[in-house]
Amino acid sequence: MAGEPQADCLFCKIVAKEVPATIVQETDTTVAFRDINPQAPTHVLVIPKAHYPDAASLAAAEPGIAADILREARAVAVMDDIVDKGYRVVFNTGTGAGQTVFHAHAHVLGGRGLNWPPG
Ligand code: C5P
Repeated sequence: MAGEPQADCLFCKIVAKEVPATIVQETDTTVAFRDINPQAPTHVLVIPKAHYPDAASLAAAEPGIAADILREARAVAVMDDIVDKGYRVVFNTGTGAGQTVFHAHAHVLGGRGLNWPPG
């Protein structure tokens, strides 16, 4: 069923605490944890607890949870004190855009200058 945990999904295992992660925030619908391979001083992933393969499918099925992800992204930026300097929220969508984990997630990046366009 849509949104149900998938046995072979790494991020579902992080939600279930079966795989360790440095969790910084958790709500009824989301988990935020530090990326294992950080690309900036702040690099946190905000994921829905429900399993959807990418942000677009999450937004289509559960727009409220998609909004929760954005709200939690800002909460991470506040927590790491990067709001004033600016930060980036990225949803890699599809292999061609660099998506490697097919459980929706927002990257929250900041704490250094960020170039545009991204590579
Ligand atoms: O957008 P993409 O799918 O490539 O992002 C997946 C992210 O998950 C990567 O930045 C990777 O470092 C991170 N990751 C993690 N903990 C894991 C496995 C992957 O933070 N155990």
